[in-house]
Amino acid sequence: MKKELEDQFSAETLSIIGGHDPSKALNSIKPPIFQTSTFKFNTAEEGKAFFNKQVDASSLEERNNSLIYTRLNHPNLVAAEYRLAKLDGAEDSAFFESGMAAITTSILTFCKAGDLIALSSPLYGGTDKFVKGILTTYDVQYLEFDSSHSKEDILQKILDHPRAQQLKMIYVETPANPTLSLIDFDTVVKVKTELANEGIAPVLAADNTYLGPIFQHPLAHGFDIIHYSATKYIGGHSDLIAGACSGKMDLLEEIKKMRTYLGCMASPHTSWLLTRSLETVGLRMEKQASNAKQVAEFLNHHPKVNKVYFTGLLKEGSHSHEIFKKQQKSAGAMMAFDVVGGEKEAFTFLNSLQLIHLAISLGSTETLASHPYTMSSSNMAEADRLKNHITPSLIRISVGIENPEDLIKDLGQALDSL
Ligand SMILES: *Cc1c(COP(=O)(O)O)cnc(C)c1O
Repeated sequence: MKKELEDQFSAETLSIIGGHDPSKALNSIKPPIFQTSTFKFNTAEEGKAFFNKQVDASSLEERNNSLIYTRLNHPNLVAAEYRLAKLDGAEDSAFFESGMAAITTSILTFCKAGDLIALSSPLYGGTDKFVKGILTTYDVQYLEFDSSHSKEDILQKILDHPRAQQLKMIYVETPANPTLSLIDFDTVVKVKTELANEGIAPVLAADNTYLGPIFQHPLAHGFDIIHYSATKYIGGHSDLIAGACSGKMDLLEEIKKMRTYLGCMASPHTSWLLTRSLETVGLRMEKQASNAKQVAEFLNHHPKVNKVYFTGLLKEGSHSHEIFKKQQKSAGAMMAFDVVGGEKEAFTFLNSLQLIHLAISLGSTETLASHPYTMSSSNMAEADRLKNHITPSLIRISVGIENPEDLIKDLGQALDSL
């Protein structure tokens, strides 16, 4: 699409018609799948020029038009990245073959042997395990903070660390999986500003899987890059595995270079599915959030439920509610709750569900329920799980787009079986 035209339209519109030019594909309204591994150069000179452009193209568009080989770039990847960047308000985006590929590629781009990374806690189990169990063997150390820490506490933790000068990234996840604890973006941005006085300049990174790209925009708060498991809301149909990263052009360029060498770009077919999914992500998330509100209210009043974790139920005036108001446009559609009892009661509940499937993953059109303590968070140390309220009685729910009364009926009959 012509730049002048593009500037007239909103991200909502561009996520539907942007990133694909029908005149370049036999006028097909939808992009074809470019199932090819390599691209023909018209002349040897053109081949040489395209290789040069990988290192010094004057614009993203020029680089994206210099197609060489599918591991480096391909038209379906370009289309999907265009749409996500618009929705995220980012200068550029990158898609990967999984959320973990996006997260690990990005961390490896900025953190080298001898460096330090600061993490919010809790994190998605896979990210937690990667940093603590794998990155440390490459001599990258970590420190942790959580939602109870103030700006001063976080600064103190960083400055007290022997590797403070080597702090290369501050990585946060909010709302955190699975208990939805919140980290204040503004606090983390202020930490970065104060660290600059000490000559320390970490990349600010967030995992935006639970609410993005519709309900939360960390980049607008001053974050540098955000990550996604695009398997979740962005893909939205439980039919693909993918990941993404969005943010500043110069940082994305570094990340894409690393992606080229790790070889983990999203394939033509995955990118094509993502391009399709980005057309409806807003519609789906709005309906999921509206269903979730009704489900959470039902659970909150049920006698067999001890506590509901849902950012739509935060107490007015509480610190978390203040953060919620500043940085979330909606509570989204993820929640967790403690059944009265322990693992036995949690399992009885899960085994009694008839409509809702028992499965990990989230963000899809169908509602899913799972048991984080023995499933998605089971690779976290027991002490870390309990500290973060990931208990044997905790159930996680990802609410889909079904009729909300059907969902409530199913949850009700499963709770009544306890
Ligand atoms: C699922 C998930 C990931 C990992 O993504 P994959 O697509 O499974 O590799 C990372 N972060 C969060 C918050 C997730 O829910």
